[in-house]
Amino acid sequence: MYEHTWQNGDKVALPATKAICVGRNYQAHAAELNNPVPEQPVLFIKPDTSLRALANNIHRPTQRGSCHYEVELAVLIGQSSSGPISGDPMALVAGYGLALDLTLRDLQKQLQQAGKPWERAKAFAGSCLLPSWIPAAEISDSLQLSLQINGELRQQATTADMIFALPQLLEEASQAFDLRAGDVLLTGTPAGVGALADNDELQLSLVDIAQNKSWQWHTRVAK
Ligand code: ZN
Repeated sequence: MYEHTWQNGDKVALPATKAICVGRNYQAHAAELNNPVPEQPVLFIKPDTSLRALANNIHRPTQRGSCHYEVELAVLIGQSSSGPISGDPMALVAGYGLALDLTLRDLQKQLQQAGKPWERAKAFAGSCLLPSWIPAAEISDSLQLSLQINGELRQQATTADMIFALPQLLEEASQAFDLRAGDVLLTGTPAGVGALADNDELQLSLVDIAQNKSWQWHTRVAK
């Protein structure tokens, strides 16, 4: 069973609950999938059964069409919140890292075209790969995220490219669903999504632009 851990390997004293995810938070990604840019964040949920550690590698379904990678800035929620957030939304954030929102893209397109919910394509077991967390006190919120696969750059963006910034996403998520300490918020993926293949080696890199610090996570696709 998945448990949150810090970068230094210590367990986080918070339960692993749900992941709240944002669709279409970068213009170029909305365009590459021919989706309109939303006026309000597109939110969806992955249940606790979807959560896995990046460190345990990627075990994707192989009989349900293409499985796409989506690298995303993720935050670990440290305090519960119901409805509108009182005070600074950023005070709820306990940790930062990069996550993968795995998506069965062929299935998602079928479901979308039929007007059906996305869960079968987005919320399957093992669909949300989470990092060891960087304590919020050690990082600013001016960040660049990138994904390399087999040494080739596939996705890169900065938090300044987001359509909806982190405080607004936290506010929307709290109002839509309530936040629990231990929840995770995934903030949407930049352009460059694509299908995973057996044995792909992935490097997720997060750069703190303001502080000139960086962190990497590695994972690979199990055969
Ligand atoms: Zn996503």
